[in-house]
Amino acid sequence: MWSSPERRTERCASCAEERVFEQPPCPDGHDPGECPEWACVRCGHALFIGGPLPAATARERRIPVAA
Ligand SMILES: [Zn+2]
Ligand SMILES: [Zn+2]
Repeated sequence: MWSSPERRTERCASCAEERVFEQPPCPDGHDPGECPEWACVRCGHALFIGGPLPAATARERRIPVAA
């Protein structure tokens, strides 16, 4: 369903339907596809979608538990 990294289909809570979301211009310096902020192209409802976990967080979760 990914036609480009800057567009994705998500369920819009405002439209209560599947809608295409696109990324508005980001003032935070994120590259397209990396910014968590998305906007419904129909109603403009903003959605924050978490991107890939930062490597540091992934590593923390791999600390072995002492048995
Ligand atoms: Zn919408
Ligand atoms: Zn951003």
